This record gives sequence, C-alpha cells and structure tokens, in this order.
Amino acid sequence: MSDSSRVEQGGQEGAEEGGLYRTLLESTKAIPWKIDWATMTFEYIGPQIEPLLGWAPNTWKTVDDWVNRMHPEDREFVVNYCVSQSQAGVDHEADYRALKPDGDFVWIRDVVHVVRNSKGEVQSLVGFMFDISERKATEHELHRLNEELALLSFTDGLTGIANRRMFDKRLETEWKESGDSRLPMSLIVLDIDYFKAYNDIHGHLAGDECLKKVAGALLNVMRRSSDVVARFGGEEFIILMPDTDQATAHELAQACVREIAKLQIAHGGSDVSEYVTASFGVGTASVFENQTSTGFVHAVDRLLYSAKTAGRNKIVLNEMENI
Ligand code: GH3
Ligand code: MG
Ligand code: MG
Repeated sequence: MSDSSRVEQGGQEGAEEGGLYRTLLESTKAIPWKIDWATMTFEYIGPQIEPLLGWAPNTWKTVDDWVNRMHPEDREFVVNYCVSQSQAGVDHEADYRALKPDGDFVWIRDVVHVVRNSKGEVQSLVGFMFDISERKATEHELHRLNEELALLSFTDGLTGIANRRMFDKRLETEWKESGDSRLPMSLIVLDIDYFKAYNDIHGHLAGDECLKKVAGALLNVMRRSSDVVARFGGEEFIILMPDTDQATAHELAQACVREIAKLQIAHGGSDVSEYVTASFGVGTASVFENQTSTGFVHAVDRLLYSAKTAGRNKIVLNEMENI
C-alpha cells in the first residue's frame, strides 16, 4: 500500500501512473486511507467514504475525526488496540461501528499496514476500511437463532414452562449449592388424577389445554425466581424450591391445590371431584452427604405414588433426613 503515496507524485509518467492508481483505489468497494504518523493527520481518504458514512473526505482531517466518529462502546478498546499495534509497528485489523452524521452506524473492518522508513521508524499508516455490516447482521441473526434454539431446548413445547432437561440441569446446580449452604431444599411432584379418562371423555386437545392451564396455575403460585416449575413428563409436573423448608413447601403445595381447583376444569371421568385435581408428593432434603439428587427425586416420586394409592387429590409429605 505504500503505492498510495505515488498518487501524489509529480511528473508526466508519475501523473499517469498516479491517475491509474487513483482510479483503481477509488473504484474498489474498500475505502483506502493514509495517515501521517508524525502529525496524526489524514493524508488521504477515498471518496467512497462519503456515500458509505456520510462524511465528506475533506472532513477527515486528524486521527481525532476517526476516533470521534466511532461508536462510544467500541472507542476505547479499538483506539487502544490500534495505537499499541501501530506503535509496535505491527500490521493489524479492527472491527468497530463507525458513526454516521445522523447517529446511525455502519460496521467497519479496518485493515491497517504500518509503513516504516529506512531506519525502521513508523512513518505512516495505510489501510482499507471494509463495510462488514451484512456479515455482522448475519452473525447477529445466527446468535439470535442460537439463543432461541437454546431456549427451545430447555422449554416444554406444549406448556412453555421448563422441560425435564432444564429441571435436571437446575437440580444439579441447586443440589450442590444446598450442600454448600446447608439450606434445605424442597421438591413438589404432582400428577393429574384420572387424566387418561379426561382425554378419553373430553378429547386429547382439551387434555392439552388442561395441561397448559395447570402449568399456568403452578407458575402463579411460585414467586421466587430460584424456583423451577417444570413438566416432568405426560401429566406430571415437578417444582424445585431451593432454600425452602418442609412447612413452606407444604404451604406452597396447598396453594397449588387451591390454584388448580380455582381453574374449575370440568372432569367427567374423575372419582374424586367434578373438576380436575392432582396428587402431590412433597419432600424436603436437609442432609446432602452420601445422597444423590436423583435419589431425592425418586423418593418424592414415591410420596406421590402414596398419594395416589391413598385415594388421589391428596398431598403426602415427608422430611427426608436419609434418602
Ligand atoms: P392417575 O390418576 O393414576 O394418575 O391416572 P391417570 O389416568 O392420570 O394416569 P395414566 O398414567 O394412566 O394416564 C396418563 C394419561 O396422560 C395418558 C396420556 O395419554 C395422557 N397424556 C400424557 N401426555 C399428554 C399430553 O401431552 N397431552 C394429553 N392430552 N394427554 C397426555
Ligand atoms: Mg395421572
Ligand atoms: Mg402420570
């Protein structure tokens, strides 16, 4: 790129050659520029800068113009990086958002070549600015899709609440936390009563609606951001409550019973109520050594089974010192 300096060379031949170089430089999509290191001023910037950023070439006077026309969030890092690389005489490149006069921005990749004199001292910087906004937009979209995918893979498709995968992940971390903090952790496992009959009588779609409403009712009860309400599978839900003792867990399970009752979803095939009900197992773990989180879940699941055999629409609880 030291050739760009030939643009300003005099002489017939030089002028012709300079004209050729200028035409070449100014017809590329990339925007060429040159900065004199001693004065920190622009010796040249391609006219393509104006249609891209809206600043005329003659307004690019000093390095400060470049700095001030950079997005404030990118400024410190990019300027420090480019200055240190240039001082070290190292070619480099940087991506940043260049500001337009109206405050909008364009993503730029600046590729910089450091030109030295015969003594090896930095003489000037020459480079090209590339418009990389399309690439950045694609990257942004990819990032958004990845986040959406991650979210979907942790969400139950029907009810929109956490799925089992999310539950397992949270249980693992909360189990460790509770072990460290010595705070009790509670679990509620609940299963809708006579749900097969509900589907048979009211139809599978009504069954789906019922599951959505029950999930919403459970979310209404749980208010702490650390609580996890998840669909455990089929018509079974599980609620993880870190830092929650048995008495509180019991109260919350009772609140769930009330909230589900409030839905008043008519159930034509239940032996226990005219409305949809559920059976609950509620367990609290306060000793974590020599026990596994999976063992805890199984134990609470067994309490749920006890609630079923005891007649359904019930809560069975147990403090589990030894699971
Ligand atoms: P119990 O009171 O002992 O829990 O009996 P139950 O009929 O609820 O239990 P069972 O395990 O016999 O039947 C569960 C039913 O839940 C059968 C299955 O078709 C239904 N089910 C599971 N997942 C879904 C779903 O996503 N949508 C609908 N509509 N039904 C589902
Ligand atoms: Mg059931
Ligand atoms: Mg079930």
